Amino acid sequence: MAISISRPPSSGKNVLGFDAINDRFNEVHIREGEVVDYDIRVHELMKAELSSAHVLPDITNQTGVLSDYPYYLDLHRHLGRIWQPFDDPESPPFNHEYGQIVVGGLALAGVVKLFVEQYGDFFTFDVRKQYREKTTEDWRTEWREIGQAALDPSLFSDEYINDKLAIFTNPALERNQAGPNASLVLRPLSWAGWCWGLIARDKYDSITYKRCGNPRSCIREIPSMLPFGKSGRKQRFCSNRCKIAERAHRQKIKESAKTDTLKAIKNRQSANLNCRGN
Ligand SMILES: [Zn+2]
Repeated sequence: MAISISRPPSSGKNVLGFDAINDRFNEVHIREGEVVDYDIRVHELMKAELSSAHVLPDITNQTGVLSDYPYYLDLHRHLGRIWQPFDDPESPPFNHEYGQIVVGGLALAGVVKLFVEQYGDFFTFDVRKQYREKTTEDWRTEWREIGQAALDPSLFSDEYINDKLAIFTNPALERNQAGPNASLVLRPLSWAGWCWGLIARDKYDSITYKRCGNPRSCIREIPSMLPFGKSGRKQRFCSNRCKIAERAHRQKIKESAKTDTLKAIKNRQSANLNCRGN
């Protein structure tokens, strides 16, 4: 059985984590020292309280440049790497972008903020309509569990994974591109659902992962099969950034090899001259 997951929403102004009112990514507020909340929700509450005499910003008419959509095909394993880094001298441990979450305390808020700027909220794709109240500690606990399950799916029972899927995903019928057929897919309601969907796929469809083609400065991974139900083109890099970095690196190696060869030829030539001189 191949488990398919539908793509997280990402189009236009509904891009995850984007606050169209203020034309920027959602500002996180850590309420009561630990509850993750968003200023866009505060704004919505104000809107409900204000009388109709007040002019409020029009959410549909905003424009703004969105940042690149982040890489997410290994998100579950990427979270696992916070606690279990690669044993690789090229990528030192504890340089994980979310590494501070291990420290806890005040550092948690910073990690949550960083994640929201890149991906949006972790427990809902829509902080306005389906807000789920979670503390920074809830984030850490869920990330840790996801990370453990991602790197070793045998740690969690089928029932446990089922429960997670029931909380964070919906079953959905999606039509195949050509023809009247439809497939049953997992529709994630949040990044948490996305991660548990990937875990289910890894466990039951034996998906494997390979390091991004730019392992010197990147710890992301590429799945052996895309989660969207069709094979697609084989991917070597997690992003264009890594593709360009790797190309530049190869170019540098080539050039230094060329310089070395030239140097060797010159040395040989001068050695020969010296021999003749003697
Ligand atoms: Zn990469």
